[in-house]
Amino acid sequence: MSIKYKIKLITELIAQTEEAYSRAPDSVLLLAATKGQPIDALIEASKEGLKNFGENYFQEAQRKIKQLADPTVTWHFIGPIQSNKTKGIAELFGWVHTINRNKIAQQLNEYRSNHLPPLNVCLQINLIDEETKAGIKPEEAAELAFTVSQFPHLKLRGLMTIPPLQQNEEEQYHVLSKLNHLMQELNQQLGLSMDTLSMGMSDDLVPAIKAGSTIVRIGRAIFGERNAH
Ligand SMILES: *Cc1c(COP(=O)(O)O)cnc(C)c1O
Repeated sequence: MSIKYKIKLITELIAQTEEAYSRAPDSVLLLAATKGQPIDALIEASKEGLKNFGENYFQEAQRKIKQLADPTVTWHFIGPIQSNKTKGIAELFGWVHTINRNKIAQQLNEYRSNHLPPLNVCLQINLIDEETKAGIKPEEAAELAFTVSQFPHLKLRGLMTIPPLQQNEEEQYHVLSKLNHLMQELNQQLGLSMDTLSMGMSDDLVPAIKAGSTIVRIGRAIFGERNAH
């Protein structure tokens, strides 16, 4: 199956799922997760109308942003953030989905140029207490959300999560719904207006949309298996 055809299938699936769960048409953004994919795959996806790309590794992203040189594309950073990469990330990206520390947010705010619009950011939440350090616990979110909301060069857009795959779609939906509830709760509690839930990947985009996702991050279902970066 060509990339073109797979994009068509995913786009149709998103539209059908929006309708099935009474979500507004076009309320879910398809973000192409392009780590480990060659530049030709990105060129083809862009030609098919995908204009939001998510990358996980700064050096790989920097190279591809330069090669693609497409001002109509918005770049999203969706990988773990090292402190020594915050300057480059603040310069090259429109979105960062993986804020999990005050220090990282502070640096991104500091390095974001006055000439650019505020950097859109999401807090990465670890919904199930896993061993992984990826993301903060739900109970830590209020404090970080408040801090981040005060930075003038960052715009706190919402929450992001990568939960492990559950036994079935119903359980996956149950876990993903927690992120939606948490965002509503924080908006009320802190008077914020977060509008973004970055959740859903190739294997769980249907329950994610059902649970309120506004950005699905799709890699393999568009590009097939990836190479090491
Ligand atoms: C790789 C990746 C994706 C895409 O995963 P697929 O299972 O290939 O769709 C989404 N989000 C993040 C953070 C990723 O690292």
